[in-house]
Amino acid sequence: MHPVTRAIRSQVDRTNEMEHAQPLFLTSSFCFDNAEEMRAAFADENDDNIYSRFSNPNVQEFVDRMCALEGTEAGFATASGMSAIFASFMTFLKQGDHLLSCRSIFGSTHTVITKYLPKYGISHSYVDAAADSRAWEAAIRPETKMIYLETPTNPALEVIDLAAVSALAKKHNLLLNVDNCFATPIAQQPVQYGADLIVHSATKWLDGQGRVLGGIVLGKKELIKEIYLFCRSTGPSLSPFNAWLLSRSLETLEVRMDRHAASAFSIAKALENHPSLAWVKYPFLPTHPQYAIATKQMTNGGGIVCFELKGGLSAGKQFLDALKLLSLTANLGDTRSIASHPASTTHAKLSEAERQAVGISSGLIRISVGLEHPDDILADIKQALDQLPA
Ligand SMILES: *Cc1c(COP(=O)(O)O)cnc(C)c1O
Repeated sequence: MHPVTRAIRSQVDRTNEMEHAQPLFLTSSFCFDNAEEMRAAFADENDDNIYSRFSNPNVQEFVDRMCALEGTEAGFATASGMSAIFASFMTFLKQGDHLLSCRSIFGSTHTVITKYLPKYGISHSYVDAAADSRAWEAAIRPETKMIYLETPTNPALEVIDLAAVSALAKKHNLLLNVDNCFATPIAQQPVQYGADLIVHSATKWLDGQGRVLGGIVLGKKELIKEIYLFCRSTGPSLSPFNAWLLSRSLETLEVRMDRHAASAFSIAKALENHPSLAWVKYPFLPTHPQYAIATKQMTNGGGIVCFELKGGLSAGKQFLDALKLLSLTANLGDTRSIASHPASTTHAKLSEAERQAVGISSGLIRISVGLEHPDDILADIKQALDQLPA
């Protein structure tokens, strides 16, 4: 069966009530009939649930569905995308290790890498998105343990060649850890290119409705066993309620992503050559600097479109104020379209030069294209652009 069919049809065992939709197991712990059963569960002799910090049926259903979609053997779900990313670092890196990452990464991931990992003696270096294989290889050190990357990156939509970086990781015996948040498994399955670990913020497209935080780490059984042992003791586990919502969301992931991507592509094409814009960026536009890589490793360009306002920083804020339909909010990957201006918000603390280095120019606008009719989304963007001073 197709991955989507398996994802939709894998579900927790029906209870005696014979419900069709999944029941919610909102319980902290699970009971045992006798002391021997309890001993066996604690001794890991079976898969019985013990405590919801370790495992829970709703959480496992979400994990199983994600494994079907990503093509991975196992996974561990966490309370947020950041806890998934942090767990993937803390489980596999130790004092003296070096982490190699693409430069353009999610802001909080950058904070973890530059502010917290050094406290544990874990060093890092960044590689530019435009770097070729040779530049990636030149950055590998004897103490490098892991390569971490996002593709496409948030918010600059840079695309990194998964096959090329994966070949290097294999050659140098490094773990390849990919944040697949922007593409989702509908557009790109990093495991097909040899990624060892896949991390997600389930808060974004996987939920798709802006309701709950969640995250997951996916990969081979033996690697996820280590993630599980780290999380079971440190406690970033996903709530059963959030898992129950996220699991239902996955049933519509493919149809949602097809529509998000089709609308995003049509809006990107319609905005190209607009007089107020310096450029428009979308992975499937032939003008994208990594168009060839994007179309090779993704089946659609995703739901995010970026463009650069000619008016820079001040135009960014004026544009946001002129929008009538699109939401001004920090999230992305919602049924409702969202506009954001990184230079005045998420990346306001960086200097102009630091922003340029991660692909964030002063007039950069990121649109998370929702499920409203694409004509209405485009009309709102255009009327807001028309209000900018010439
Ligand atoms: C939002 C996001 C994260 C962090 O996820 P949270 O669920 O907010 O903790 C990580 N990576 C990317 C690419 C994101 O967009």
